[in-house]
Amino acid sequence: MKDINVLVINCGSSSLKFQLINASSEEVIAKGLCERIGIEGSQMTWTPAGGEKYEVKMPMEDHRTAVRLVLDTLTDPERGVVKSLDQIGAVGHRIVHGGENFASSTLITDEVLRAIEACNDLAPLHNPANLIGINACRELMGDTPMAAVFDTAFHQTMPAEAYLYGIPYHYYEDYKVRRYGFHGTSHSYVSRRAAQMLGRAYEDLKIIVCHLGNGASVSAVKNGKCVDTSMGLTPLEGLIMGTRSGDVDPAIIEFLCNKEEKPVQDILNVLNKESGVLGLSGGFSSDFRDLEKAYRAGDEAAIRAMETFAYRVVKYIGAYTAAMNGVDVICFTAGIGENNPFIRSMIASYLGYLGIAIDEAANEKRGEEIAISTPESKTKVLVVPTNEELAIARETAALV
Ligand code: AMP
Repeated sequence: MKDINVLVINCGSSSLKFQLINASSEEVIAKGLCERIGIEGSQMTWTPAGGEKYEVKMPMEDHRTAVRLVLDTLTDPERGVVKSLDQIGAVGHRIVHGGENFASSTLITDEVLRAIEACNDLAPLHNPANLIGINACRELMGDTPMAAVFDTAFHQTMPAEAYLYGIPYHYYEDYKVRRYGFHGTSHSYVSRRAAQMLGRAYEDLKIIVCHLGNGASVSAVKNGKCVDTSMGLTPLEGLIMGTRSGDVDPAIIEFLCNKEEKPVQDILNVLNKESGVLGLSGGFSSDFRDLEKAYRAGDEAAIRAMETFAYRVVKYIGAYTAAMNGVDVICFTAGIGENNPFIRSMIASYLGYLGIAIDEAANEKRGEEIAISTPESKTKVLVVPTNEELAIARETAALV
């Protein structure tokens, strides 16, 4: 890979996460986070490689100010990690929604920006923030090449029977209402890594990736291509998540509007922010560390939330095994998938029909690449820590 430093930028509505990664050595040179952009009390925390964490409290009225602060910090004569902006060879931007316009990452041009903007109504909370980040970097970094890496791109290989909803077809034709899927960079990275870990050709495997974090999704990857995934038009569909409901009967929305005398937006807000394991646990917590502790103490609400969460994952694994006519390897990734042996074994306890046997000692490991199935297990089960920033840096370096 080329010996350039890639600045990876992930802009949210009031935040900006960044990592500076050397594309050749894949070393993280610095990483950090700007929070509360445009809100009182904004601050940046950042850590240079091998160094201690710095905290910078400073008003950031917009993303341009945040990008300016990031660039000034990285090039600071005393604490900085590069001498000048010339040592940042490219910028990789994480973009949430690329609609049907992007099946892969792409170099950013004016035309690409217009195509991303055209997807704004599909991801109204995310895409506008992503665009602000791109524009701020373009303004401040002149001709530095920039790439857009989409959360949806990896899933564009899904066949029509997987991405269509059972609603009048003209809604797809008129408005592009269909399943898109998200977390694509993670599903792509983890599935490829799984093939490497097994020493098998990516194109020969049937892989199910369970990305279990605060947002959670499952994907089916057959012969190196995504053939189905659990998130839909938006990231609300599929698994039960930290605060999102995942799949529900759509008629629930009107039913609750009537019962609670609330508008649709309020009920959607409940489905996005007050549901999932938070809602199932009666508002106790969306965090699996809290839930696990309470589960072990016999708390009924935590038991209900975790068992319902696990059962939904199990159903998707069954569905995707059927969709691919088998499965060779199941991967766990993201905050919960990487760090929670308890949930992994709860899910695995349903999977005897796949000939899965779990190595309990290996399963106790957290946050590392490891096979947690026994050597005899017919279907392999792996923990593969995801690394979306590295995947974005690789894609960006390959494009410039
Ligand atoms: P993510 O959205 O990928 O950051 O995942 C967040 C979830 O991962 C939360 O529910 C956390 O409780 C869980 N998580 C993160 N780190 C750990 C850990 N060390 N042990 C157990 N759960 C963890």
